[in-house]
Amino acid sequence: MNGDSDAKAVEVLRSGGLVILPTETVYGLAADAGNAQAVAAIFEAKGRPRFNPLIAHVSDAVQAETIAVFDDRARRLAEAFWPGPLTLVAPVRDREAVCDLARAGLDSVAVRAPGHARARAVIAAFGRPVVAPSANRSGRPSPTTFADAVEETGFAAAAALDGGDCAVGVESTVVSVLDGRLALLRPGAVTREEIETVAGPLDAGGEGHRSPGRLALHYAPDAPVRIEADQARPGEILLGFGPGVGDPAFSLSLTGDLREAAANLFRRLRQADRMKPSGIAVSPIPQAGLGEAINDRLRRAAGFVG
Ligand code: AMP
Ligand code: MG
Repeated sequence: MNGDSDAKAVEVLRSGGLVILPTETVYGLAADAGNAQAVAAIFEAKGRPRFNPLIAHVSDAVQAETIAVFDDRARRLAEAFWPGPLTLVAPVRDREAVCDLARAGLDSVAVRAPGHARARAVIAAFGRPVVAPSANRSGRPSPTTFADAVEETGFAAAAALDGGDCAVGVESTVVSVLDGRLALLRPGAVTREEIETVAGPLDAGGEGHRSPGRLALHYAPDAPVRIEADQARPGEILLGFGPGVGDPAFSLSLTGDLREAAANLFRRLRQADRMKPSGIAVSPIPQAGLGEAINDRLRRAAGFVG
């Protein structure tokens, strides 16, 4: 399977088509954020509910501030973590560049400057914001390899870029900076501690603002997922964490490294699912640092979050 060129991807975006775009978090299904028809095609291909808004991907903070209104804290966060796996939700400034459908009609917009070299090159050459939700069909585990992305939504894409395996492997941290408040809407690769070091305390109670996309059953493979498991039950595959736990081929990290576990998470879930086990068991993952994002995805894959 060979991927297309950056130039081809830009041409497809200009003509209102969809592109499989590698980012450092997960593979995205990308379109011109200002083209309502193209954005509608993303919702259609993913089977994504229309109340769940998309993230606008930009080159840098300068372009971000053409579509969103940043206060001091938003600026400091962008400065500290971009390009990288942090999404900022801020009041919308340009309602055309990121169309209503992409924002699910909200008067705020989610924006991020991704770190992957190919994503950056394509967005810079295209010159306008690009929406790029994960390239999976809605509710399924996100693709973190080119092959998985093509398998999920390749049917809908007129170009597909191979950017190798995603280095981070879980979706971006989403932080809202609205009405002078700072809230963590979704844990991700940039940790709670890192956010607070740069921008001060997050609102207690977590989701201080509406985050329409946090569905209960999400990131789920076909097989039922059982978390905090000591060992596999008959018919289950165990995704281990740490030395000597389960089959090494399915380990999230043999050394107990959270970064490695995040990078492996969706890949292993998909790999295990292909074996059609009666269930997928997952070792306990510490909640500290990146563990918060991993456990968030696992709880949703197990259907535990209401
Ligand atoms: P995804 O594209 O699937 O990685 O998800 C984007 C995430 O950002 C979802 O959880 C959305 O609900 C959230 N999001 C996007 N735009 C907004 C917004 N304006 N306000 C709150 N959450 C948002
Ligand atoms: Mg997604």
